[in-house]
Amino acid sequence: MRVPLSSPDITELEIQHVTEVLKTPHLSLGPKLAEFEAKITGFLGTRYAVAVNSGTSALHLIIRALGIGEGDEVITTPFSFIASANCILFERAKPVFVDIDPQTLNIDVNLIEGRITGKTKAILAVDVFGYPADWDKLEQIAEKYNLKLIEDSCEAIGAEYKGRKAGTFGDAAAFAFYPNKQMTTGEGGIIVTNNRDIADQCRSMRNQGRNNTGQWLDHIRLGYNYRLSDINCALGIAQLQRIDQLLSKREHVAQMYDTRLGHWQEVRLPHSAPGMKRSWFVYVVILDDKYSKKHRDNILQWLRERRIGCSNYFAPIHLQPFYLEMFDCKKGDFPITEHISERTIALPFYNNLTEKDIDFVVQTLKEMVAKL
Ligand SMILES: *Cc1c(COP(=O)(O)O)cnc(C)c1O
Repeated sequence: MRVPLSSPDITELEIQHVTEVLKTPHLSLGPKLAEFEAKITGFLGTRYAVAVNSGTSALHLIIRALGIGEGDEVITTPFSFIASANCILFERAKPVFVDIDPQTLNIDVNLIEGRITGKTKAILAVDVFGYPADWDKLEQIAEKYNLKLIEDSCEAIGAEYKGRKAGTFGDAAAFAFYPNKQMTTGEGGIIVTNNRDIADQCRSMRNQGRNNTGQWLDHIRLGYNYRLSDINCALGIAQLQRIDQLLSKREHVAQMYDTRLGHWQEVRLPHSAPGMKRSWFVYVVILDDKYSKKHRDNILQWLRERRIGCSNYFAPIHLQPFYLEMFDCKKGDFPITEHISERTIALPFYNNLTEKDIDFVVQTLKEMVAKL
């Protein structure tokens, strides 16, 4: 038996939608792009959506549209996928890390104000593992210090913070649609915002800096090719049509893990709190404090030897070699992030995991921990 870490949920509906596009000449910049964007704004209730070819591209264009550049500082979390900090580096601005809350694993809002300087231009917060950051507090701080606010909701489509949907906070938000996310377009991402100017700039920058006159060789600003093809958009449209089903299947899988691991003292389960709706991106357990990184790494290796997909989501960003070099970060700078990332185990998590798969994963995990 082999259980992968993740796997997309693709049905006949998706195959039909993609095949339809292939029967037309409009493989890119066709009608599916606007349709996909309209479906996303319909789902979220934001005014604008600009689809691009990855979540990383979405974050990059947001940084540029907000005018963040050399000499600026952006406050963000070291416990995330690396793209949420790299997008700041793309524009030669400086990521200023703030440690995380040990329960939610999101940026600790109580530590932010101590890191604000005259150079701080924005806060980029991540809804890590689909659990919303503390947006009330983030909005308060951004307003008090006149900072831009960016939501990296790449892991959080469908999540809710006190009844408000993830992706609706701050000046703009980014989603990602890589195949391991809750919904996929193969590769892809989207910028969502209520700010017309940000949307217009992103739309132009994703398409070589063209303006909206339709002139192919008129370029009014520096742009990129960050376009998302109509083939990808069609896949996204079909996935979005099934989004409630996609999300509830994931929730069901999470519940199956919860019931089997809930009374086991050796790991801590994903956090939950009233008013917070997690969108299940991954299922990450945290080994008890009495274990070390070495123990965790052994478990990952043993699980892989038994053909169970698993991962150490996340390795701290500030300890990646080029960050260590560029910003003289060092081990010990963000102790909570480091302590937790030494103990995380992401277990296989995808929509069509069966009860039998989960029993196998849980039983194997328990055996491995007993061996430590
Ligand atoms: C997946 C992800 C991204 C980047 O998305 P890609 O589509 O892979 O470029 C950015 N931030 C976070 C937090 C992510 O999980």
